[in-house]
Amino acid sequence: MCNSADQTTAAKRQLLALKAVCSNTDILPEYLDTPVADLLTMHDLDGVAELDASTSMVIVTCMDARLVLKIPKEGAFVIRTAGAAPQPALSNIAFAVAAAGVRTICIIGHTDCAMARTDVARQPFLQHMIEAEGWSDNASEAMFSDLQQIFAIHDPVVATSERAQWLRQQFPTCLVAPLLYQVEDHMLTQITTNDRAAT
Ligand SMILES: [Zn+2]
Repeated sequence: MCNSADQTTAAKRQLLALKAVCSNTDILPEYLDTPVADLLTMHDLDGVAELDASTSMVIVTCMDARLVLKIPKEGAFVIRTAGAAPQPALSNIAFAVAAAGVRTICIIGHTDCAMARTDVARQPFLQHMIEAEGWSDNASEAMFSDLQQIFAIHDPVVATSERAQWLRQQFPTCLVAPLLYQVEDHMLTQITTNDRAAT
């Protein structure tokens, strides 16, 4: 039986689509001639892209060890957080935008993200922090609560899309690209809406 949060997430997911990059023509028009296209070309098409500082980007992605990105040389500031949550790294992103002139942000969620199943991690997390690391019950509970509130997601596609929208609100001068890293085949796909995926 699904709860209401699951149902809401499922409804949001139905509006979104994934567009793979099998050739240059698959890259969404808004990414052409931007660092997003360079990243997709390099990662998915084994292309070569060498960016200069004026065209570098911020990449926010998950800290999951399975994610190995092919990034243009010196082309990106990379921020990794659990679940690719951008909120805790807001000041870092702002620094790249305001001080380094970055105008492109890629937010990259991924399939099989542990932040989508934090419920099952709760007991082992608390047991380890309390018994092995010596943290108090309250401090351990508070830490796990923070983890769930800030980093946990229901669905990586929906979460990445919503976080991209949030980043657009924080940085209206920036192009923000929501992408999904598929740990099954290590490819990057573009998160877009259903009506745009077929074009
Ligand atoms: Zn993850």
